[in-house]
Amino acid sequence: MSVKASLFGLAFGDALGKPTEFRSYADIVATFGPRGPRDLPPGALVTDDTQMALAVAGAVELALAEGPLSADRLEPHLNRLFVAWARSPENNRAPGNTCMQACAALERGRPWWEATVSGSKGCGANMRVTPLGLVPGLSEDERAGASQLQAALTHGHPTGLAASELTALAVRWLLDGLAVAELPAALRARCDSQRQVYRGDWLGDQLWRRSAAGSPEAFAATGWDECKAALTGLEDAVRFVGPDADPCAAGGAGWIAEEALATAVYCLLLFPASPVDVVARGAASSGDSDSIACLAGAFAGAVNGEAGFPADWYERIEYRTELDRLAAAWS
Ligand SMILES: [Mg+2]
Repeated sequence: MSVKASLFGLAFGDALGKPTEFRSYADIVATFGPRGPRDLPPGALVTDDTQMALAVAGAVELALAEGPLSADRLEPHLNRLFVAWARSPENNRAPGNTCMQACAALERGRPWWEATVSGSKGCGANMRVTPLGLVPGLSEDERAGASQLQAALTHGHPTGLAASELTALAVRWLLDGLAVAELPAALRARCDSQRQVYRGDWLGDQLWRRSAAGSPEAFAATGWDECKAALTGLEDAVRFVGPDADPCAAGGAGWIAEEALATAVYCLLLFPASPVDVVARGAASSGDSDSIACLAGAFAGAVNGEAGFPADWYERIEYRTELDRLAAAWS
């Protein structure tokens, strides 16, 4: 179990999925074989997924330096670092439209609940959240609330919020020793227990009031129900879809938040003890390959530790200095 392997696993999956994101499944398999790309070249570049995850991590660090994590402490740092990412010359890795649109509105000074793209549940909300599963010492409420708030700045749909919380908690639970086989059921149980919970301390009341939902509980329930549906049947798919087929057949294409989570969990279920197989399988997928593979890599790293990935990958990946620094601070 390793914070470092989870942070780097995110970047490894992202980098392996970068060249495959917009290619057809047949084309990917023709190039890389049925189990996907497994070679990380020197100077491997990541995408917006890792860049934004580093922004979330940085915001959490700055907020924690001021005191216990809260919405008031965290939101200004998220806001500033998301806008800085959007304007960065390094933001040239096919960034998501929702994030760019919301960041432009944040930069104009709109409050986040107006800047957010209220109908979007794109996976840009949860592809960047796994650092919140890794930061030590948070209560469950802090981890859950902060995960939802970081999503809400750009993606206002309740399913983006719920999927982000689930993604961060999955990393935390795996780090704490939850067996991989137990993960889908644990996530579905979270969907049930949280179904009527709207985290007003973190989200305020503007977000749900601007939706079509009649109450905060109804707003939240939509997100948890959609996530639970996406997470149902993954265990059976391990047998019926299997390790040599497109993982999107099991969990969905992953352009939306709950499918990115489900398909990444599915990749982990296929190869619980083999992180390279997990990220390669995520990268060889018909859908949002870099986001599926980065989440799958964060899960597989949390479970298997640093030795699960080739040693030279840690020297080859972009942003390794920052990833190393975070790993040392949080281990
Ligand atoms: Mg990307």
